Amino acid sequence: MGGQRSGQPWFHRGLRFQCTGCGRCCSGGPGFVWVSPEEIHQLAHHLSLPIEEFLAHYVRPVGNRFSLVERANGDCVFLHPQTRRCMVYPVRPEQCRSWPFWVSNLRTPADWEYVCRICPGSGQGPLFTLEQILSLLWGSGLEKEASSL
Ligand code: SF4
Repeated sequence: MGGQRSGQPWFHRGLRFQCTGCGRCCSGGPGFVWVSPEEIHQLAHHLSLPIEEFLAHYVRPVGNRFSLVERANGDCVFLHPQTRRCMVYPVRPEQCRSWPFWVSNLRTPADWEYVCRICPGSGQGPLFTLEQILSLLWGSGLEKEASSL
């Protein structure tokens, strides 16, 4: 690709992102919001709930991992139905904090262009440097693939 330095990801000049708060990334088709045991404890503590109660209401097992529950319409269980704001924003999982800088969104420029179509904050706003993007990069255990992007 034009302008790419040898050994650098295609986005080495950085990418722009500023969340508009539209809530689209927290809704839509079926998906997973992975939560680690530590994140489960943080969320339960934030909501002042016993772990058992939090797990029963907000978490579903998927294989040997855990995901937050979705509502029937595809909304994350913690997306406020009216305000479309995250109800656990201060303790949201790493998967949510790192959006849109996921390995799956950054494999190719076409992947990023798709993200920019579905997320109005992507491609807009302040520039995130390559170093900032790599420090945020998330991807279902694929983070170590960063050097191959
Ligand atoms: S889709 Fe993009 S702009 Fe909308 S809430 Fe999610 S990150 Fe923000």
